[in-house]
Amino acid sequence: MGFERFGRKSFTSQTKVAAFVDYLDKGELRATKCNNCDQVFFPPRADCPNCLGDGMEWVEVEGTGSLVSFTQVNYAPAGFEGDVPYILSLVDFGKVRVFGRMRSDVPQEALKVGMPVKAVICRLSDGQVAYEFLPAR
Ligand SMILES: [Zn+2]
Repeated sequence: MGFERFGRKSFTSQTKVAAFVDYLDKGELRATKCNNCDQVFFPPRADCPNCLGDGMEWVEVEGTGSLVSFTQVNYAPAGFEGDVPYILSLVDFGKVRVFGRMRSDVPQEALKVGMPVKAVICRLSDGQVAYEFLPAR
């Protein structure tokens, strides 16, 4: 269904939100927004847990967010052992918060809660596509 191409190791083959990967291919990081209650979801959801509506639209996560929190992962879960250490981050883009990795060349010492951060699309060496964060200048 297209989602197996997402990330360093994808555990999901069946999903109603596989268009997420198609948008990444086009260079866009997208979330879903409920047409009924306006809540925005990341990771994207096909059905709204807030109002139980199923009228979702794709909205781009764009611009600069604010770094809410981050942590360095030194002991990785199965499938990610070769990647450690890496930094997981939570970034607030206003209507939605996005969880993901900081780019590997950004040292933890360079990060500060509240600093501006942007999301970028990245192509992995095995052809997978993902997104990551970078401090915004
Ligand atoms: Zn809703």
